Amino acid sequence: MTPKNAPSGIQNLNGAFLRAKLLTWYQTHERPLPWRVLWKKHKNPWHIWVSEIMLQQTVIKAVLPVYERFLTEFPSPSSLAAANPEDIRLAVRGLGYYRRFDLLHKACVKLSDEKRSLPSAYGDWLALPGVGTYTASAISSITGDEPQGVVDGNVERVLCRLLDIRSEPNLPHLKKEFKKFMDDICALGNPGAINQAVMELGQTICSPSSPLCAKCPVKNQCLAFANSSQTLAPAAKARTKFLDVNLRLEIAASACEVQLLRRPPDAKFLKGTWGFQTWIQSEGANGGCWIIDGSPTKPSSNRALKSIGSIRHSITKHKITAEVVFRTPGKAPGNSDAKTVSPRDVERHLVSNLDRKAWSFYLKSQGIQL
Ligand code: SF4
Repeated sequence: MTPKNAPSGIQNLNGAFLRAKLLTWYQTHERPLPWRVLWKKHKNPWHIWVSEIMLQQTVIKAVLPVYERFLTEFPSPSSLAAANPEDIRLAVRGLGYYRRFDLLHKACVKLSDEKRSLPSAYGDWLALPGVGTYTASAISSITGDEPQGVVDGNVERVLCRLLDIRSEPNLPHLKKEFKKFMDDICALGNPGAINQAVMELGQTICSPSSPLCAKCPVKNQCLAFANSSQTLAPAAKARTKFLDVNLRLEIAASACEVQLLRRPPDAKFLKGTWGFQTWIQSEGANGGCWIIDGSPTKPSSNRALKSIGSIRHSITKHKITAEVVFRTPGKAPGNSDAKTVSPRDVERHLVSNLDRKAWSFYLKSQGIQL
């Protein structure tokens, strides 16, 4: 492995030459992703902004079905500014990391209150809630020709391989050098295309485990290719340490109604989302006691709960084992944080994949087909 503080040697890369090669390749190999198609057609930064927020922490495959649905419902920042936060979460159901959409909403409200149109400069994007340096660089380079390079995991991997760097790719000094390199090649012109070209190469050719070097437009400039060290450069990032968590999801359902509850703002998991009563097992010897997640209310102990088994799910760094239990609905609580819906409508009220998994597990266990 390359020593952690070893210089990257990036000054030896011929940025102008690589840029030219990558732009030529990108002209014929760019995938027609919907946000790219829309941008070429309408030149509306809203289409790029939405895609960049959705692609944070989420793979393209998961974003595709949600992206078009979202834009149909919210075709402009002003339509999102006027929307109910609950409807926004429903429109992005299944994507996870829902706070990013709360922040997108907040940013749209800010623009609307200040009667401003969408920015074009990097600094103006950066000033909006939920837009960090990476996102501001990506949006402003694509929509405003700002010479801001992007450095994501794909760019890090491509540059590490070009330089045969065998340390972890996201070390602070490497990040800084990679950002400067990308900024410099962006400054030569067409920054949006060159940023996307490097990321596209990382996504489609220079993949983590089996790069397709024979098809790579820059293989003759690649040290890892020359040294046959593609599997060594870069070293794997330190693995995320997962925490095990036990939950219990309580489905209150009959043949004609299902009670849903809105999770409290203090809930550890999925705060503010509509779903099933969620219990969390506190840590403790031999398993701690069960409490309702985010609620100070003592649970009543006399409900007849039937367990139908467990499902597994991950949320950020938590590995969840959730026991699914059900009971017949009692008297509806009758407050704004509870509602009764028909079984056919449950699916469209659930934002999180955890609730959706639990609901389909319940339906299957009861032999119910809706
Ligand atoms: S030659 Fe192979 S390892 Fe080098 S940049 Fe291209 S795909 Fe990646």
